[in-house]
Amino acid sequence: MKTCAIHWFRKGLRLHDNPALLAACKAADDVKPVFILDPWFPKNANVGINRWRFLLQTLQNLDDNLKKVNSRLYVVKGKPNEVFPKLFKHWGVSHLTFEEDTEPYAVSRDSEIQKIAKEHNVEVTSCVSHTLFDTQRTISKNGGKAPLTYQRLQTVLSSMGSPPKPVESPTKCQTKTEPDHDKKYGVPSLEELGKSPEDCGPLLFPGGETEALRRMESMIQKKSWICSFEKPKTEPNSLEPSTTVLSPYLKFGCLSPRLFYYKLQEVYSKAKHTSPPVSLHGQLLWREFFYTVAADTANFDKMEGNPVCKQIPWDINEEYLKAWKEVFEEYLLDADWSLNAGNWMWLSASAFFHQYFRVYSPIEFGKKTDKDGNYIRKYVPQLSKFPKAFIYEPWKAPLDIQKKAGCIIGKDYPKAIVNHDQMRKKNIERMANAYNSNKTDGGGEKRKSEASSVQKKKKRKVE
Ligand SMILES: Cc1cc2nc3c(=O)[nH]c(=O)nc-3n(C[C@H](O)[C@H](O)[C@H](O)COP(=O)(O)OP(=O)(O)OC[C@H]3O[C@@H](n4cnc5c(N)ncnc54)[C@H](O)[C@@H]3O)c2cc1C
Repeated sequence: MKTCAIHWFRKGLRLHDNPALLAACKAADDVKPVFILDPWFPKNANVGINRWRFLLQTLQNLDDNLKKVNSRLYVVKGKPNEVFPKLFKHWGVSHLTFEEDTEPYAVSRDSEIQKIAKEHNVEVTSCVSHTLFDTQRTISKNGGKAPLTYQRLQTVLSSMGSPPKPVESPTKCQTKTEPDHDKKYGVPSLEELGKSPEDCGPLLFPGGETEALRRMESMIQKKSWICSFEKPKTEPNSLEPSTTVLSPYLKFGCLSPRLFYYKLQEVYSKAKHTSPPVSLHGQLLWREFFYTVAADTANFDKMEGNPVCKQIPWDINEEYLKAWKEVFEEYLLDADWSLNAGNWMWLSASAFFHQYFRVYSPIEFGKKTDKDGNYIRKYVPQLSKFPKAFIYEPWKAPLDIQKKAGCIIGKDYPKAIVNHDQMRKKNIERMANAYNSNKTDGGGEKRKSEASSVQKKKKRKVE
C-alpha cells in the first residue's frame, strides 16, 4: 500500500544526523518535508531582520539539499493545529515525524499535534537530535530532576556512556511534487514576508546546512587551535571572532551537535587537548547543561515562579529596560531560548553562579581588554572619533572634544542611563539581602561550592 509521511522541520534544519527525517524516508514512498511559518514566533520573539534572512537562507538551502535526494521542502503558513488537519486529509498522511523540542511552547504545541494526529490515524515518531543526549533520560538518571551544576551534569553523563553517534543522511527521500510546487510551497523572500532586505547588515554568516558543515570543517582543520581552545582565553571584543561562530547553526539545527562532538573527538584522539569546562567539548556541555535544566524548570526565562532563580527585588523601570534590552534578542542570529535565559541567570548571579559581588564594569572591562576601544569604534560608529581617553566614558568628554568627534552626547548618542558605581552598590546590597534571606532558589551549599569551583576554571567570556 502507498504510504505518505510528513516530516515536520522546526529546528533540525538539516539532512545529516536527522533520525526523524530518516525514519520518514524509510517508512513512506511519498515523503512531504514541511516547514510551517508559525505566527506564534514573530509575535512572541523579537526577531531582527538578519535572523529572518538567516532562516530563509537556511530553508532555501534545505530545499536545495532535499532536491538532491529527490525531494522538496513545503513551506506552509499558519498555526500548526490548523495546518495539520488539512495536510493530513489533502495528502492522505499515515506517518508524522519530527525532532523533539524541549522549549515550553514546543512541548505544548507538539502534544496538541500528537492528539490531532491520533484523531486522523496518523502514527507519530519523534526523535532526539538537537542535544547530545535525551534531556529526559539525563533528568531521569539524576533521580527525576535536572542536574543543577555543570559538575553534576558531568557525573550523570559519565554514567550514560558516549552520546549517540550521528545517523547517516538519507540518500533517497521520494517526494511526489505538484507542478505548481514553487508557487504554493516555495521558500518566501524577505519582501514576501513584508520585510525590507535593505535593512539587513552585511552577510557575514549565511544560513544553511551547507555553510554550517563548511564552517565546522574549516574549524576542524585548525587542529592545534581546537586542541588548545580554552575559554575564557578567547577574546570577547576582538574584531574578528575568536571562537567558532557555530552557534546560529547549532541553534537552528543546521549543524548537529553530535556530529560536531564526534568531529572534535577525532581531533582530540590524536593529540593532547584541553578538557571541559574550558574546551570546545566543554562548550557543548554548557549547551547541554542549559538545555537540560531549561527542560525541567518552570518559568526558566523569568524570575517569578522560577524555582532555580534567586528572588531579587529589582526596580521596575520600563524606560531603562527599553534602553537596555533592544539590543540583545533582536540582533542575535543565535537567539536560543534555553541558552539565553540560562546564561543571563548565570551572568546576573541569579542562578548557577553565585558570586554576586563580582560585577563587570562596562568601563574598566573595556579599558583592560581593548585599550584603544577598537571594538567600540567599529560597532558604535557614532563614537568612532572620540579620543581613547573618553571612548568608554564619552559623556565625560568636554564639549569641544565632543564637537570635534562629531557627536554630542545627549543629542547624537544617548546619555548614560545610570551611574554604574551607584547602581553597583545598590544592586549588591539587594542581592546580599536576597542571598541572606530564606528566599533561596532551593539549591544547597553543595551547589554553590560546585558552581564556584567550576567558575574558577571557567571565567565567562564576558568578563
Ligand atoms: C548573557 C548571555 C546570553 C547568551 N545567549 C545565547 C543565545 O541566545 N544563544 C546562544 O547560542 N548562545 C548564547 N550564549 C552563550 C554563548 O555566549 C554563545 O553560545 C557563544 O558565544 C556563541 O559563539 P560560538 O559559536 O563562537 O561559541 P564557541 O565558543 O565556539 O562554542 C561552541 C558552541 O558551544 C555552545 N556554547 C558556547 N558557550 C556557551 C554557553 N556559555 N552556554 C551554552 N552553550 C554555549 C554554543 O552552542 C556554541 O556555538 C549567551 C551567553 C551569555 C553570557
